[in-house]
Amino acid sequence: MQPQFFNVINDELRGSEKTATVTNPRTEDELWPCPVASNEDFEDAVVAARKAFTTWGKSTVAERQAALVKMADVLEEHVDELADILSRETGKSAILASLDIRASIAQCLYYSKTALEDEVQYEDDNTRVVATHIPLGVVGAIAPWNFPVILANIKVVSSLITGNCVIVKPSPFTPYAVMKWAEISRGILPPGVFQVLNGGADLGALMTLHPGIDKISFTGTTATGKRVMASCAKTLKKVTLELAGNDACIVCPDADLDKTIPSVASGGFFNAGQVCVASKRIYVHESIYDEFLDRLVAEVEKSYSVQEDAAAPSVFGPVDNKAQFEVVKGIIEDCRKNGYKIVKGGKTTTASANGKGFWLEPTIVSRPPEDSWLVKEEQFGPILPILSWTDEDDVIKRSNLANAGLGASVYSTDLTQAERIARKLESGSVWINQSERPNFGAFFGGIKDSGYGGEMGKQGLLSYSYTQALHFAK
Ligand code: NAD
Repeated sequence: MQPQFFNVINDELRGSEKTATVTNPRTEDELWPCPVASNEDFEDAVVAARKAFTTWGKSTVAERQAALVKMADVLEEHVDELADILSRETGKSAILASLDIRASIAQCLYYSKTALEDEVQYEDDNTRVVATHIPLGVVGAIAPWNFPVILANIKVVSSLITGNCVIVKPSPFTPYAVMKWAEISRGILPPGVFQVLNGGADLGALMTLHPGIDKISFTGTTATGKRVMASCAKTLKKVTLELAGNDACIVCPDADLDKTIPSVASGGFFNAGQVCVASKRIYVHESIYDEFLDRLVAEVEKSYSVQEDAAAPSVFGPVDNKAQFEVVKGIIEDCRKNGYKIVKGGKTTTASANGKGFWLEPTIVSRPPEDSWLVKEEQFGPILPILSWTDEDDVIKRSNLANAGLGASVYSTDLTQAERIARKLESGSVWINQSERPNFGAFFGGIKDSGYGGEMGKQGLLSYSYTQALHFAK
């Protein structure tokens, strides 16, 4: 039977006159009709959220924690159903799709035990000042398509544990699993606390403008993030922006290549490079460059081939949608036009045997210039530039970009050197001897054009709260 999808408003399922469908990027099959929220649906959701906030905003932390445990239970009960839907809308393999749901369960459980506490900020003979944290009100959560449930979930659980209500807008490329998640979560929270509306840029823009929404948490491209911030300024909304990255990965001459090569391959090609903190520029020390390149190509050939069958245990996949497929093809064409040395892959036609789907084979380019499109801009797809370095200060300078600073990685057996380099990298997170994987317990945010503020970890909850100072006279 065909699954059905609904906007979830005030704990009720609502269809819509207008519907949209998504193309499965693995097969190019058209998926199911999905309601597109009208302006009236959005207004109704804001009214329901504001009403719900009058009581949910006063709930205890223990009540919120109990709700998150129930949300984890419901996700656990439906993990196969949600992963199957997510696999079809994103083109991910079954194992990658279930990771999206399993990581969301882990986030619910982490925040069911993590909350902000009151803290004495100052004390002397005359006064005692206590910082407490109060909810903002209604959060608008705007999500991208690469990890649809995880990235919406982090905004939802952060909102809920801090006492906010939340309205989620998934990407129009990947609405289904998020809508189903909201549908199966009905009854856990008071009506209006957690709502989901499907829509595109128009609905996103309305959310950023509406005076009934107190904060926007946005994940997506830097260009859209700038529009979101400008729009939020009109009502002085709080804003968190999680934006594009162009992560440098520095491989030192003493790196343990047996461990480093599989890790760098995963950094670059996991989910076909569609990870905000994928390794996007690899800087390998000149003394090991040739060996590294040969072994990386062999590793990628072994572990990141095109597997049309979604049941195959692969963490590689197609590009998520036609628009991004065209962007990545454009980057490959630019490399060919400019005569850069493509040592693996490089075709711009669909790489699947049956000619269907937005598949590109993993592509590796040796020593493209630093000012090439592939190096300067985020590729967000399965193509990786391998550059070289000889001088530590020079590679740090080249790693630090003016237009991005999300993540980075450093590989060395000398942890003193690795940490010295890491501390000079201008990015929100640096991973040492491992590829870039956010951890729900660690604060995550980009610097420069990669973001504004951040979320995750206990510190991430601060951006979902006002800090109120209570001054007690003694
Ligand atoms: P996008 O900016 O095109 O869209 C993101 C969301 O914004 C979608 O829901 C979209 O409908 C909505 N939107 C579009 N225009 C809007 C507007 N004017 N106002 C409000 N909302 C609007 O991004 P995308 O292509 O979906 O995502 C890919 C990008 O996201 C990549 O650059 C990637 O690096 C980045 N990303 C960042 C992180 C992070 O945590 N820093 C995580 C994942 C992805």
